[in-house]
Amino acid sequence: MDVHHRSTQYRCTTCDYVTTSILYLMRHANAHHSSTQFKCTDCNYVTKCKRYLKSHMNLQHSSTQFNCTNCDYVTTNKRSLKRHVKVRHSSAQFKCDYVTNLK
Ligand SMILES: [Zn+2]
Ligand SMILES: [Zn+2]
Ligand SMILES: [Zn+2]
Repeated sequence: MDVHHRSTQYRCTTCDYVTTSILYLMRHANAHHSSTQFKCTDCNYVTKCKRYLKSHMNLQHSSTQFNCTNCDYVTTNKRSLKRHVKVRHSSAQFKCDYVTNLK
């Protein structure tokens, strides 16, 4: 009899976000997981496949690469790596669900 209390819940497939409005879910996905695109940090190259991005990096920016020791992040710019580590792995408690879910 509690029909009115049962509202449909929409769950984000990428993280734990739950909402009763599909509009909010779409807005959330756009804001937080805008696409499954991988962007080159050194140029405007964008791809939907992580492999392609890696091979692009190898071909186009084949200079020294800096790999993040905490995830698959790769950059040719040491500054970018430092910034990445600061943003993504600044706290030992912080876990990026987006990155781990990709694996
Ligand atoms: Zn989400
Ligand atoms: Zn590039
Ligand atoms: Zn990382």
